[in-house]
Amino acid sequence: MTEAGTPCPLCKAPLAALQLAETTGDEAPIRLTVRNLPVMACAAPHRYFAGQKFPIWLLNALVDEELPKIPAGKAKGLIFKKYACGSCGAPLPAAGGEARTFSTSLAWNGTPAFTVDVAMPMVRCTGCGQEQARSGEELAKLLPAALVHVFMAAGIKAPG
Ligand SMILES: [Zn+2]
Ligand SMILES: [Zn+2]
Repeated sequence: MTEAGTPCPLCKAPLAALQLAETTGDEAPIRLTVRNLPVMACAAPHRYFAGQKFPIWLLNALVDEELPKIPAGKAKGLIFKKYACGSCGAPLPAAGGEARTFSTSLAWNGTPAFTVDVAMPMVRCTGCGQEQARSGEELAKLLPAALVHVFMAAGIKAPG
């Protein structure tokens, strides 16, 4: 974790730990909302990650641990995508779906806890009734971009 009091690389003012109330990143159809994101900031404010490894840790935590908790179907077909239920294999509705939000509380290396909401449309399987995102693979593909949008919206500068 970057230590409080470290000089800001841009203006040399001391950095302090800060939490940002709410930051959102959209990569349709995913919306990520991070509440209380811990950052380091000077008074300017120039903002930085709480630590160098923070962004990759957060990405891995979301992709490896949070996404698998979201029920999801499978995409089939290379050009004309069709989606099949992850539970029973029945075809999923091609469009529509209701927005659902999955929240998780995370903390990194002694930072205060923060919350990540992953929201996306969920469709209901006509075969078994399981509600799910259309494609788990698609979620894993879009999530990194949504997270980058969050960091940009937070005004975080790349280190160095
Ligand atoms: Zn600064
Ligand atoms: Zn099903």
